[in-house]
This record gives sequence, C-alpha cells and structure tokens, in this order.
Amino acid sequence: MKHPDVDITPRIQFVTTQPFLPFTRPSIDERTIAEVGDVLRSGWITTGPKCAELEAALGARLGGRPVRLVSSGTAALELALRLCGIGPGDEVITTPLSWVATANVVLAVGATPVLVDADPQTRNIDLDLAEAAVTPRTRAIIPVDLAGLPVDRDRLHALAARHGLRVVEDAAQSFGANWKGREIGSFGDLVAFSFHANKNFTSAEGGCLVLNDDDEARRFERLRLQGVIRLPDGGIEVEAWGDKANLTDVAAAIGLGQLRQLEGFTARRRALAERYFAVWNRSLDFDLPPADAEGHGNWHMFQPLLPERLASRRGDFIAAMRAQGVGVGVHYPAMHLFSLFRKMGHAPGDFPVAEDIGARTVTLPLFPAMADADVDRVCAAVTGALAALR
Ligand SMILES: *Cc1c(COP(=O)(O)O)cnc(C)c1O
Repeated sequence: MKHPDVDITPRIQFVTTQPFLPFTRPSIDERTIAEVGDVLRSGWITTGPKCAELEAALGARLGGRPVRLVSSGTAALELALRLCGIGPGDEVITTPLSWVATANVVLAVGATPVLVDADPQTRNIDLDLAEAAVTPRTRAIIPVDLAGLPVDRDRLHALAARHGLRVVEDAAQSFGANWKGREIGSFGDLVAFSFHANKNFTSAEGGCLVLNDDDEARRFERLRLQGVIRLPDGGIEVEAWGDKANLTDVAAAIGLGQLRQLEGFTARRRALAERYFAVWNRSLDFDLPPADAEGHGNWHMFQPLLPERLASRRGDFIAAMRAQGVGVGVHYPAMHLFSLFRKMGHAPGDFPVAEDIGARTVTLPLFPAMADADVDRVCAAVTGALAALR
C-alpha cells in the first residue's frame, strides 16, 4: 500500500528533455582507451609490465614509499590487517559512516570491529570517541576520509602513537587529497586506496596499499598472491597462505591514464563544489557538506543532508530528482543498522550523529566531465523536488 503523500506525480509533472545526469561517471580519454587496446593486443593481459609501471608511478608520487596493487580497495584493507597480524581476539576501531567494506574486512580476518560515532562537522570518525574506545585488545584504527575530506592526520597519528596502534587508512575516497599540503598516502602507516569505477581515480576495479618499507612490501606480495615466494633459481616456495588479489595489466593501463589526468580531475571537482556552494538555494534548509576552506579534500562526492522534516522521505526526493533527469546516490546509511551488525548487538540510538547523517545524506552529481551548467541544473532540480515534496 502506498501512502498518499508518497505519490508525487499527480501534483507536479516534471518534463525534461535533457540527457540523464548520473551522480558520477568515470572520465576515460581516447589515449587511455588506445593504451588498453595495446595491452589487449600484446599477448600479456594480467599482472605484468603495466602493473609494474603503475606501482612505480604511484610510489614516485607518494614520496618514494612502496606501493603494491591489488584487485580492490577491500583486498588492500583486508590484507593490510593480515599484514599487521590482526585476527581473532583483536579489536579494530572504525566509523559506522562508511561503505560496509570498512567493517567487513575486520570481520574477514576474525577480529572485532569497534564502531564509534562520527563528528557532526566533518562526518568522519570522532577521534575523541575513538580514543575513549581503546582497550587492551585494540590493535588498529581504520579512519575513513568520507567524500575525500581527510581525517585530521595530526590527531590520528598522535592517538595511534599514544596507544601503540597500527593505522590502516581507508583512503578509498581520498586519492589526490592532502593533509596540510602533504598528499594522502605519502606519509603515515598503511594507506589503502580503491580504484573502483565510482572513485575519483579508477582502473574499473582495483586498489593499492602504500607500505612502510621493502620488507613489508615483500610480505604483502605473498599475501596478495597465494603465499608464493620466487626463488633465485626460478623455483617457488610457499610458507604460508596467501590470497588471490593481483591486478591485471588491462586495469593498470586504465590507472596509468587516470594518473596523467588526476590534477585536472581534482581541480575540476573543486571548481564544481565551489559552484554548488555559490548557486545553492539556501532557503531550502539542507545542511551543506563541510566547506573545506583549507583545500584538503578532493571533493570525491558532494553530499548535502536533506532537511530534517524530509528525513523519512529520501526515496521520494530521489524519485523526484530522477523524474527531472538527475541521478542521486546514498553514501552511506549508518552501517550498524544493517542486520549483520544488529545481530552483533547494535541498535538504533548507538551512534546518533552517524544515524542522522546516514538517514539524510544524498550524493548529488559531481564528476570532472560536468559543466557548470550541470550544477545549475541540479540545483534547480533540488528546488523543484522540494516543491513537489511539500
Ligand atoms: C569503495 C570503498 C571501499 C572499497 O573499495 P573497493 O575497491 O570497492 O573494494 C572501502 N571503503 C570506502 C570508504 C570506499 O568508498
């Protein structure tokens, strides 16, 4: 049964002749497409020279730190925890306001995810609550740079040092972002990036881990591929289990093309975010995302929060936007409300800030190929949608 309020069409009929504007779309240039073709024609399409080239280029970009490619951001996070020897009986502190992968990887290694609420301003993990959650069993913290806005790295690493914790940065959304001018990934402990198609830097699927030294990198290579150790005589040895999480050269060729364009992508994202702030109809009672006046973030996403009175009508808002040709995403509902985490004892009210943000957040279109006029169009559609929901 539909509630009468839910059906918006009888009152306002939207007519749009413009093409559908998705909330994100990867920018793959013709040169990259040609280079992917070259890989496909080369006779070597899985892990090979293109992966080596991308690892070297990423390492050079990130201050010479070792970088190893994997098949996803999830694999980078999970294998980072395994590299730290984290497993059953250990606790890992993280935020409920992330893609569920962030906590799933903790479960995957048999450890316990300890969730703490988000900071209402940044929407990232509240580091005071994180510190209060440290116990003798805590081994690591996984901060998440939501929407590409970095967690305070000074406070994060000071906290980790005080308690002897490993830091596994979930930087899936913050490639190209910086903390006080230092690029994310170029410092810290272990840093995981994702190259999923919806990220600001993509290889269709893929990811990487930034490591501290060559010894960690070698151990990580074994975890990445079946535990295999290559011997000088051409033979192999296997001492311990390893995953199957290598990247393909087809994917790496896409990544190399993205790397050439990254500075342009990030500049364009920042300009589009600025335009959102300039054009936004402030009488609509949305909470806009943190403005990032310091320019730390990469504007991976632009996420206003719906007015409180419309918190329960997000589906109607999304439908009204779609009716005007505009795609809207939701990143993310607070994960402790998923039945997986409720079965582990979580309940509504556990993390009020994350629950409020998770219930009201909407991801509006923001990707480098957008024109300024597209932002104007989205803003007009938001005004139209709110009129329809009144
Ligand atoms: C995308 C994402 C991941 C997972 O990356 P995949 O490449 O999809 O495995 C993890 N955490 C966050 C915050 C993400 O946005």
